[in-house]
Amino acid sequence: MSLYVQKYGGTSVATTQHIANVARRIERTRAEGHDVVVVVSAMGKETDRLMGLFGEVNVPTSPDVRREMDVLLSTGEQVTISLLAMTLMKIGIPSQSFLGNQVQILTDDQHTKARIEAIDTSAIQEGLAAGKVVVVAGFQGVTQDGEITTLGRGGSDTTAVALAAVLKADECQIYTDVEGVFTTDPRVVEGARCLKEITFEEMLELASLGSRVLHARAVEFASKYQVPLRVLSSFDESDGTLIAGEDKTSMEQPVISGIAFTRDEAKLTVRGVRDVPGIASTILVPISNASIEVDMIVQNVSADHSTDFTFTVARGDFEEALSILEEVASEIGANEVSGDNKIAKLSIVGVGMRSHAGVASKMFQVLADESINIQMISTSEIKISVVFEEKYLELAARALHAAFELNEAV
Ligand code: ASP
Ligand code: MG
Repeated sequence: MSLYVQKYGGTSVATTQHIANVARRIERTRAEGHDVVVVVSAMGKETDRLMGLFGEVNVPTSPDVRREMDVLLSTGEQVTISLLAMTLMKIGIPSQSFLGNQVQILTDDQHTKARIEAIDTSAIQEGLAAGKVVVVAGFQGVTQDGEITTLGRGGSDTTAVALAAVLKADECQIYTDVEGVFTTDPRVVEGARCLKEITFEEMLELASLGSRVLHARAVEFASKYQVPLRVLSSFDESDGTLIAGEDKTSMEQPVISGIAFTRDEAKLTVRGVRDVPGIASTILVPISNASIEVDMIVQNVSADHSTDFTFTVARGDFEEALSILEEVASEIGANEVSGDNKIAKLSIVGVGMRSHAGVASKMFQVLADESINIQMISTSEIKISVVFEEKYLELAARALHAAFELNEAV
């Protein structure tokens, strides 16, 4: 007998009819002889609706306001847990729902972006021992002082993984509205296919590069506690994608597992900076003081001991970063500041890269063959990222997907 934590996202519980389908799925898992702990999100777009109401109040955020936001946002999941527990009862399955503070899912006090610190499993264990399906509200927790918190948008995934970790579940199954994790975005590349398996490390890269199947925090958690994760659709019967440690996934690693890309970045360059110690921090400290996150950084030195310093930020931060930089540039006597917000970043990801030479040169050759000019490059052990003009994004993604043999076999 195994213990599964099953998480059902908003689209899977959008209506009471959907909830009835979820109950049937849980019933099947039970019939196979397994214990089930269920984590649910708010129904459909409920959390967006609640955010909309908050917007209508139109109050500037402050710590006190964020506390109230959590009281508001956490209501969505409360509706779903009760409806699911009752639906299970109706088909003869004993069930009990729990809010974050009833479990207790203890978090820090960072309202709207709290982190889970500890979970008391006794109430859940008691429920399971009594033969019940335990239904837990995702996305919410409670502080030491009894204040309600939420974990950040998409946080139900993290609730599920954290529960699976402390309960030592055999698998954490994330039910969603897509078949699993794809080699790349199927809306852009026709041949994109659903992966059977992928390692934690690769998934972490894909999640932080903008793949929205899974909350990045959830993958981090799963990797840290080695909880096998499975992403699968609640609308069909396929096996989805298993995300696990390298020892649990098959030995035959493809060189590249996936391609991720984003249009959500912008590039800034300071030209003619003197090449002396402290320049990088002089440029970047004011940027980070404005809470702007820097992604890629490129700097090189020319023969005349001056350098161009280029980095990327989220596109939404572009204007602010540019104006900060203009000030900094005049302070340090740089020649000029320029910016470009029509760029795209594309990354190829795969643990197979470690044992294969020539992956980068192959990538660059493919881009060269398409006459795509690379503006920036960065690499890690299992990832190569490039920045180029946004208009080439589809072309690059398709060409690389084919070149690295990721297309669906025909
Ligand atoms: N309901 C929350 C949200 O929409 C949490 C989640 O769905 O994971 O962000
Ligand atoms: Mg969600």
